[in-house]
Amino acid sequence: MTYTKDALKEAIQQKLRLNYGCTEKQATDGEIMKACALALRDIMAVRSVDTQEKTQEQQEKRVHYMSLEFLMGRSLMKNAYNLGILPQLTQAVEELGFSAPDIFDMEPDAGLGNGGLGRLAACYLDSMTTLDIPATGYSICYELGIFKQKIVDGQQVELPDDWLNLGDAWLMPKPQEAEEIHFGGRVRTRWDNGHLMVVHEDYTRVLAIPCDMLVAGYNTDHVNTLRLWDAKSPKPIDMQLFSQGQYLKANEERAMADSISTILYPEDNHYEGKSLRLKQQYFFVSATLQSITRQHIQTYGTLKNFHEKNVIQINDTHPALVIPELMRILIDDAGLSWDEAWDITRHSVAYTNHTVLAEALESWPQQLFETLLPRIWQIMQEIARRWQQKVDDFYHDPKKTEKMAVIWDGVVHMANLCIAGGMAVNGVSALHSDILRRDVFRDACGMEPDKFRNVTNGVDHRRWISQINPGLDGLIRDCIGDGYLTHAGCLSDLDRFAGDAAVLSRLEQIKGDNKQAFARWAKRQQGVTLNTDAIFNVQVKRLHEYKRQLLNVLHIISLYQQLQDDPNMDFRPQTFLFGAKAAPGYAVAKRIIRLINSLADQINSDPICRDKLQVVFLENYRVSMAEMLMPASEVSQQISTAGKEASGTGNMKFMMNGALTLGTLDGANVEMHQVLGDENMFLFGLTADEAARLRQSYDPYLLYTRDPVLHRVLDQLKTGFRDGVSYEDLYQRLLYGADCPADQYLLLADFASYCAASHRVVDTYADREKWNRMSLHNIARSGIFSADRSIADYADTIWHVPYKK
Ligand SMILES: *Cc1c(COP(=O)(O)O)cnc(C)c1O
Repeated sequence: MTYTKDALKEAIQQKLRLNYGCTEKQATDGEIMKACALALRDIMAVRSVDTQEKTQEQQEKRVHYMSLEFLMGRSLMKNAYNLGILPQLTQAVEELGFSAPDIFDMEPDAGLGNGGLGRLAACYLDSMTTLDIPATGYSICYELGIFKQKIVDGQQVELPDDWLNLGDAWLMPKPQEAEEIHFGGRVRTRWDNGHLMVVHEDYTRVLAIPCDMLVAGYNTDHVNTLRLWDAKSPKPIDMQLFSQGQYLKANEERAMADSISTILYPEDNHYEGKSLRLKQQYFFVSATLQSITRQHIQTYGTLKNFHEKNVIQINDTHPALVIPELMRILIDDAGLSWDEAWDITRHSVAYTNHTVLAEALESWPQQLFETLLPRIWQIMQEIARRWQQKVDDFYHDPKKTEKMAVIWDGVVHMANLCIAGGMAVNGVSALHSDILRRDVFRDACGMEPDKFRNVTNGVDHRRWISQINPGLDGLIRDCIGDGYLTHAGCLSDLDRFAGDAAVLSRLEQIKGDNKQAFARWAKRQQGVTLNTDAIFNVQVKRLHEYKRQLLNVLHIISLYQQLQDDPNMDFRPQTFLFGAKAAPGYAVAKRIIRLINSLADQINSDPICRDKLQVVFLENYRVSMAEMLMPASEVSQQISTAGKEASGTGNMKFMMNGALTLGTLDGANVEMHQVLGDENMFLFGLTADEAARLRQSYDPYLLYTRDPVLHRVLDQLKTGFRDGVSYEDLYQRLLYGADCPADQYLLLADFASYCAASHRVVDTYADREKWNRMSLHNIARSGIFSADRSIADYADTIWHVPYKK
């Protein structure tokens, strides 16, 4: 079935009449956008039913991708693109008298995630669908997504993100498929017909209502679902209390239930043991597993073959409670024995680790489990006991038993739970997976080496190249055709054009146009005027000390000091762009944002920097901004302390759009370097091994005293800039530490090497042809970073499901 422009026009008009009681004459841009979404949703809904019937009939194995975050961004253009009707939709909107870009721009980002981990889940949904895998994503339908960031007087201010106002058009609530979740209460056992039965009573009930978002694949009729759970109380308001005038108290229990799906926790790579967060996790896990097992029983009449027909991939440890919850359902509800249940669980769940940062590892106080999840706690204790026995039998080493324990000293260790109960554990880049095997999970790996795998991350290259960068897409098609869209490896054919001057200059032209377009956008969004003649040197990602935005700042200060010393020096224009949200409670990260803004204010107002040096902090970095920015970027800063960034995916998006990477050998940069070689990227700094070794005897103060450039830069932090704010706290942190080791991310150790590499970047940029050739090689070799490749890896090595080749 094809959808013509006229058919779409009619469908949009119909939606306007039925849902908003208006014609296109009266409709607002927002209503047009929603009507478009509803029209596309209908197309997908029909295909979704077909997909489900086929999966059911052929009894295919299903993939369940569980993640507390899905950073979907916008869907209108994406779905139209995947359905092959983007030109028709664009025309239909224009013919109704609206500007298509304005309409697309009305859609709020679905910001149900913090950063890379959530965006990865979104890219994987696209690839799983495009590869015809029967897959469902599961998460929470947060009422408020990741906060909106405003910069006021140089500082971050957080505003609520009520995306559902305009973003609800994609959601299909299914109250008839609601699940009931039990919190608190008591557990007692009783004998029933010779069986020991577990009775959970006096619990608080919460309803989980699915709100389904359909996901279209590219060039396929296959449609998958992202199932978002909304929390609601099953109880009506307490009218007795209400009639006594206690209005708030009357609504207390209802409000408690609703609060479970109100907010996304805004911490990236950081764990906080909040009881509401544990409620969210169990709510999400229990609803999802009840839904999956219900569907399985409908098809097969038993759960005994559950692991043969289902695989559950968990995105980090956040959904780790699937392990005890599946055990609970198999034992308490289905009546299986512990051993049967454990065998099924151990062959159903696979765990992806996303970080080695200690502060991100989840470790919950036992007492929270006891009170909130009494039955789950019992099961966890038994899992922990058996696992501890197994470890003890293998190593006979109390130290290892302690390190690998699921429960130890009143603390529940979620990663160890995943290792004990999972069939596979994977890291997200070759280096990260090695660090897991050699270091973080060394002992577990010694016991079960085959469990530990690598699946390097990837991104949806259709979104991150062809959809957002039509100029580049056109060039690629003219050179090698459109086969790259479904086979990203074909991009390597572009290497043949490395000596083609016409192709290289067209590439430069495209980049120039994209820079202009981004500059116009930035002007409209936040009123800044970007120097498009300057190199666009970009660092956008969550703000975290390990990502070292501060190292970037130190280098820019040194450039500024050079210009002050000699305003007439030969200086190639550079525009440094930053974009980063800081977790609201992460004080140091917020200070670094303020520092960037103080520095930007100083530099941008100093006449000696005019047309030479510019620094801009882009407010509210998000997926839809990344879509504007990646095509316009020339330098991609990926400068984390080696060993700390598990993979990175921003690095891949930049590479696909022809930006050159200035980076450390960290995360997936290592694999980028393998395909690019030294000659096509700008590497600097310590390796992960060197960094680990240096930490044994690190002395930042010595570096400060020995390097005059560094000395002067750090002193400037103390002095501050024209706004009068001193950054002595950051200076202290680098040189002496305080509540942490001094300069634990080794900025000072990498400073000189970073400055030298930055210098190579500008030198190389002067040779336009060379730069363009490097850029072309980057695009050509980015195919391995397609999420299609990642999903094929998961399907081949962990899920064992077939997919479209
Ligand atoms: C890709 C992406 C990220 C991840 O960036 P990293 O550089 O890998 O940390 C974070 N936020 C948004 C909005 C993204 O699109």
